[in-house]
Amino acid sequence: MKCEHCGGLVTWEKQKGHWYGHCNNHGDSKKCPGKTYIRQEKVEEQLVGILDKIAPKTPEMMDWIKDVILDDHKVKVTEREKQMSYLNQMLAQVRRRKDKVYEDKVDDQITPQFYKRKFEEYSQEEKNLEDALLKLNDQTDEYQQLGVAIHELAHNGLVIYQKADPDEKRLLMSQFFTNLIQDGHKIKPEYTLAAEYLANWMPKLNENYEPPKMASLKEKTPESSDVVSFGSGGWIRTSDPVITFCLKFP
Ligand SMILES: [Zn+2]
Repeated sequence: MKCEHCGGLVTWEKQKGHWYGHCNNHGDSKKCPGKTYIRQEKVEEQLVGILDKIAPKTPEMMDWIKDVILDDHKVKVTEREKQMSYLNQMLAQVRRRKDKVYEDKVDDQITPQFYKRKFEEYSQEEKNLEDALLKLNDQTDEYQQLGVAIHELAHNGLVIYQKADPDEKRLLMSQFFTNLIQDGHKIKPEYTLAAEYLANWMPKLNENYEPPKMASLKEKTPESSDVVSFGSGGWIRTSDPVITFCLKFP
């Protein structure tokens, strides 16, 4: 945690049974104009408020988010399998051609120069296809799993937080915040990429979520690239933030 005004680290000291944080009394922070003593409970209160704001509110909403992520994933897996089978066919073909041109050379059907040119051409093609296959194989389910995981973590964040010991709290907080800035009695979070995303769309989703309406919208939107989102006037079909999130994260 850092001070907004001097950038000094916030240190903690105990007074009358309470912990108070303030910038650290070194260098510039010694004469920091914004130096404020903030009670630990006040910090926690605000963090809990932030967690609450970025969490999917209800189990139904959490289920819906999961569905959207998993549906999108299914589409991606099918696409990937199609691409893979196509690349494998092309690879088999170019390898057959390579063999054939080698036989032609052995049988003196073609000149060494022609063989060399063809061999290089096919080898390059083979390598490109192998690279493309490797790349496809590298696409794991990680983003999709992280997408679900971070929503679930946010969804259960408050319950976890309330039961956690200080180390666990720190760990939980590190999933959502890269840093906390103290500005007087106010705590400003610096979000991790995942939490930044949650902070942007969860409040809107929490406000606009209507299960029946969304269920019908979902049925009408089989294309993964064109799922539900929200506009000022309610739900509209544009791009899907969950999926955007999956692509952007981490
Ligand atoms: Zn300061």
